[in-house]
Amino acid sequence: MARLLPDAVWHFRCGVRTTADSNAAEQIGKLFHADGNGGVIFRCADRTHHDIVRDHQKGNEKNKREVKMKNILEKPFCEALMYVRKKNKDCSSRSKLAVRTRIESWYIASFERGERLPTRKQLAAICKELNSPQLREVGEKEIEYARTHPDVKICYADNTTCWKCHKPMKTVYGLIDECPIPPDAFSDGMIKICADKGVILEERRSGTTGETHLVNVCEHCGAFLGEFYLHDLWYGETETIQVEDVSDFIPDKEEIDEDSKS
Ligand SMILES: [Zn+2]
Repeated sequence: MARLLPDAVWHFRCGVRTTADSNAAEQIGKLFHADGNGGVIFRCADRTHHDIVRDHQKGNEKNKREVKMKNILEKPFCEALMYVRKKNKDCSSRSKLAVRTRIESWYIASFERGERLPTRKQLAAICKELNSPQLREVGEKEIEYARTHPDVKICYADNTTCWKCHKPMKTVYGLIDECPIPPDAFSDGMIKICADKGVILEERRSGTTGETHLVNVCEHCGAFLGEFYLHDLWYGETETIQVEDVSDFIPDKEEIDEDSKS
């Protein structure tokens, strides 16, 4: 708030030296019920501003602050963000932070719920507004962890109905951080897992684009499920296989930074 002197502070708004004022303390205390904890009310020399200093024991306040800062570094980013935002006098509401950072409010809400991480650029903007290098440190760590630990899954179904012969066929699609990907984008390790499950993946030429893709093939009639129809498989899986070797899906740092510019 302001620089504490033994019995006075420099007022943070007008810069005038303030003095302890027991009379004002009584009046403001009555009006706002603000200071039942033994804090001291300071009054500006020009008598226009009053400030309540809740904890006039400087040492205690400083220690508390240091403990809190340490805690931010131990919190997950979502909690740390909400904590730092609420503590920030100028930016305590989400909508204000949204206006100042030009990041939509519902995005900030989803960061605070832990549903998604900001891009590096968004993180930088938020931490600049909230003036918190600690928060940036926490965010950078989580963004880097997410980059190097993508969540890769194979969604396998043993009962997809073949569009041609109507018999049940085995099919797969993939998920990277919850985004569906076609078998064409699978790593060698994933293709091996699919083969072990009895899924037939073969290179076929697409009638519409003329390009060849690795696609799900019916074991009974040889018909294939083109990329265009991949969404027919979404959420139809009978088993989800977590892929351990994700090295093929770790994007370059530059690639992510490039994304965050758009
Ligand atoms: Zn078939």
